[in-house]
Amino acid sequence: MSKQSSSSEQQIEHLRDTLRQYNHEYYVLDAPTVPDAEYDRLMQQLIELEQANPSLITPDSPSQKVGGAPLSAFEQVTHEVPMLSLDNAFDDASLLAFEKRLHDRLKSNEILYFSCEPKLDGLAVSLLYENGQLVQAATRGDGQVGENITQNVRTITNIPHRLKGDTIPQRVEIRGEVFMSKAGFEKLNSRQKANNAKVFANPRNAAAGSLRQLDPKITARRPLMFYTYSLGVVAPASLELPKTHSERLNLVQSWGMPLCPDIATAKGGQGCLEYYQHILRTREALPYDIDGVVFKVDSIALQQTLGFVAKAPRWAIAQKFPAQEEITRLISVEFQV
Ligand code: NAD
Repeated sequence: MSKQSSSSEQQIEHLRDTLRQYNHEYYVLDAPTVPDAEYDRLMQQLIELEQANPSLITPDSPSQKVGGAPLSAFEQVTHEVPMLSLDNAFDDASLLAFEKRLHDRLKSNEILYFSCEPKLDGLAVSLLYENGQLVQAATRGDGQVGENITQNVRTITNIPHRLKGDTIPQRVEIRGEVFMSKAGFEKLNSRQKANNAKVFANPRNAAAGSLRQLDPKITARRPLMFYTYSLGVVAPASLELPKTHSERLNLVQSWGMPLCPDIATAKGGQGCLEYYQHILRTREALPYDIDGVVFKVDSIALQQTLGFVAKAPRWAIAQKFPAQEEITRLISVEFQV
């Protein structure tokens, strides 16, 4: 082995160990010790080193794995369809490179339409409805196996216990994000302070810590909300569903599920960049925290053609915002001149 590759190997091992520790703190303990931007930077370094040394990629690398192991205190739920992660773009050029990859893979330059969605900063949850009744709720966990949090989810007031309408499938899994609004987070923290209880670092940690409680009575006192962003299992499989992701979201909304009001559709990568700028400009005024936006190829047929890689769909990408602490740093650098 050359000197170069042995030092890459050491760097890769070191990055993996560090990221595994950060994953455990973030996903299992709900107590991260580094900002997301720092985590993203290290993950990007790992991905680049692995791309330069493909023989060193192993299935247990954090670059190939989703989330964290479910806590054993909860009953486990095996997802019928895995709950995956998303690829990231950190600038406009990588978003346009994503669009080009889609065209190349589809061998077509036909304009693509995208569902554009705020990337809510909470945690992914799967809700299973049978004959319209909520029967099970689970966290994403490691993507294959999550935690059964049904009793806790039943306390979230904007999640219906029963779906309405006559087009409801016999069995349907609705996926989305549980999060805390900025106002709810401020209120909770003031209450915590007044009671000399733990104060949360941000709405994401507050949401994760509140949802993964062993006592649903505690969850019930926390201002959690849910927004739908996709469908999982639908049965019977022969059921005719709309042909685009955005129409499916509207259908799910007609059953009584809450949908983020800031979702839009865009034409081509350029349309996505305009949406990104619009959301970035209005970010402060939004009632919920986001860490970027998500773009999904709207056509379900094209999604099926594009398929998946190890831990993410090929037809979607998250374009991240510069983190707040990064923004502060950027602004202070600009003003130094
Ligand atoms: P991801 O960034 O890969 O994106 C997938 C997740 O996005 C989904 O599971 C869902 O929860 C969420 N999401 C929000 N809105 C969505 C929408 N409209 N459509 C689809 N999904 C939507 O998520 P991940 O793999 O859980 O997290 C990785 C990120 O978490 C990192 O980039 C980092 O910022 C953060 N993280 C931080 C630390 C830390 O120590 N600070 C550790 C681990 C992860």
